[in-house]
Amino acid sequence: MSSTTRARKREWVDEVIAETPNGHRLRHCIQCGTCGGSCPNGAEMDYTPRAVFNLIVAGQKDKVLSSNTMWQCVSCYFCTARCPHQIPITDIMYTLKRMAIREGYGRTSDAPALAKAFTHYVDKYGRSFEMGLASRYHLLNRPLAAMKMGGMGFNMFKRGRMALTPSRIRQIDQLQAIIRKARQLGGAS
Ligand code: SF4
Ligand code: SF4
Repeated sequence: MSSTTRARKREWVDEVIAETPNGHRLRHCIQCGTCGGSCPNGAEMDYTPRAVFNLIVAGQKDKVLSSNTMWQCVSCYFCTARCPHQIPITDIMYTLKRMAIREGYGRTSDAPALAKAFTHYVDKYGRSFEMGLASRYHLLNRPLAAMKMGGMGFNMFKRGRMALTPSRIRQIDQLQAIIRKARQLGGAS
């Protein structure tokens, strides 16, 4: 391996560490596999969190950012709670999501589109709006799935589990100020 390649590999793991609160702990991973074994979605992931950390340290940016692993993470924090070395696994998954979107890898999954539709409603109303989410995300990204889900949506509506119009939380301006500040701190627009 050339010194340039080694430098590039060092660079990426350092970026992941720098973008994650307590990210330096990633270097303490002992590859015990507790995280993957604890993950409710591990079976759906291209690489378990343990394998992802191994790839990050090895500088395999392309493999990691084009994988589905971070998009399958449901942020349950189970792995983080069980990791014997207090590695911020869930936060690293968020870092990888941000990096994948920023660098165009997000196009390999429609999860970023779902996240975008979800945050649009949270920004505007302070909560999710299922009907809008279904139309905004499914019609644009999965029109066939939207048709199949129509029956379920109708049943939810009949049982009062799905509103036809969004409702705004009280004091939305305060939540919006918090979101604005978080975006500023995170360097997002
Ligand atoms: S549980 Fe922690 S130490 Fe074990 S493999 Fe996962 S991240 Fe590494
Ligand atoms: S936080 Fe994500 S990676 Fe960790 S156990 Fe939950 S789903 Fe799996």
